[in-house]
Amino acid sequence: MSGEDNDLGGGCCCWRQEDDWENADVYNTACGDSFCLVEATPEANGMRFCCYCGKPLIQIQKSLSAAYKEKVFSDE
Ligand SMILES: [Zn+2]
Repeated sequence: MSGEDNDLGGGCCCWRQEDDWENADVYNTACGDSFCLVEATPEANGMRFCCYCGKPLIQIQKSLSAAYKEKVFSDE
């Protein structure tokens, strides 16, 4: 059997950014794991392959609100 949700990317692994702004650094991977980035995006961190399944990584950003960005940057 094939055609699980995990295969969405057709040979790639989709990393979906968490919806919740409190967990916006967390990406859920199509292969069933999750990864927490310290900052920025997988792409910006030079991650081109999923570190769990080894497939080419596709990142799917949530559109974060300006309020979220303001909060993050003002906290520092
Ligand atoms: Zn993967």
